[in-house]
Amino acid sequence: MEQIKRRIIDEFNLRKQADDLGVKVWQTPSFMFIVMGLVIVAAMTGVDIISQYYDSPNVLIVSETLVVSILFIIGYFVIHSIESVAQANKMKSEFVAIASHQLKTPIAEMNWQTELLLSKFHEGLSEKQAEIVHEIVHSSSKMARLVNDLLDVARIDQGQLALTKDRVDMCTLVKDVVDSEMAFAKTAGVQVRNTCPAASFEVIGDRRRLSVALDNLISNAIKYTEKGGIVEVILEANGQELQICVRDNGVGIPRSEQVRIFQKFFRSNNSVKNKTDGTGLGLYIAKNIVEQSGGKLWFQSIEHAGSEFYFTLPLA
Ligand code: ADP
Repeated sequence: MEQIKRRIIDEFNLRKQADDLGVKVWQTPSFMFIVMGLVIVAAMTGVDIISQYYDSPNVLIVSETLVVSILFIIGYFVIHSIESVAQANKMKSEFVAIASHQLKTPIAEMNWQTELLLSKFHEGLSEKQAEIVHEIVHSSSKMARLVNDLLDVARIDQGQLALTKDRVDMCTLVKDVVDSEMAFAKTAGVQVRNTCPAASFEVIGDRRRLSVALDNLISNAIKYTEKGGIVEVILEANGQELQICVRDNGVGIPRSEQVRIFQKFFRSNNSVKNKTDGTGLGLYIAKNIVEQSGGKLWFQSIEHAGSEFYFTLPLA
């Protein structure tokens, strides 16, 4: 009920809408909608009054033509404002794609040079210097991940996320992703278990992107679970589909925020308070990858008890 009330209030909060869409208040669709409503009411009343005073059909035709012309002009402005919002959105996606693409090479170079320094030339480095270089490696990999995420989001928004069709054994893929998260889990003091009841579960999909989707879910489960917690990754066949569940007994997602969890850049309040690290892009990307691969992604969560993220993929 509270949510519906807030939605209705937001719907008519013209200043907020204008800020969100980056247009002037009079250009917001809701403003146009209200003006159009008022004009229709005024026009109907006007035509009614005119028809009472004047018996001439000519007067009626002229007044109706006038009303239709006004509505036509308002309609033009509505379409124009929607067009400018769509254009701004397209330009934003293009800008993000170009900027991320340009950032990729220098970041990769930085990564490569620092890794080289640590592996080949570390002998001349003092302990403190090596520690600083490690920090640089850590920060540049974080930057690389962010740039990759932004690039993926831009591709999704432009409908250009091209997926390859590999034959992927999901048991192996899950194991690889879990292994790659083990160091993080150890630092966080969280146990990660994975269960695959069959020798293999084959699906047709983009190996790299499926592992990105899975990694987002597993790293979230670890990140949003307190020390001593448990994360489980369970695979099971469900008819013609493979179902994967990533379960944790972590902080959970507040009920009031669950509807917004798959929105770009959305982070729930409890996680912003506890974990400053995060962009709010992981779930948006994971959901798009799974859905483009022919599956579904959903979750259930109880605050302070934990979360279960599920996704399905058609079995090969
Ligand atoms: P990020 O983790 O970078 O903030 P995501 O898109 O992966 O971005 O997740 C969006 C938000 O969903 C997170 O900020 C967090 O609030 C919530 N969330 C996702 N997974 C979990 C989880 N397993 N437990 C609790 N909250 C979660």
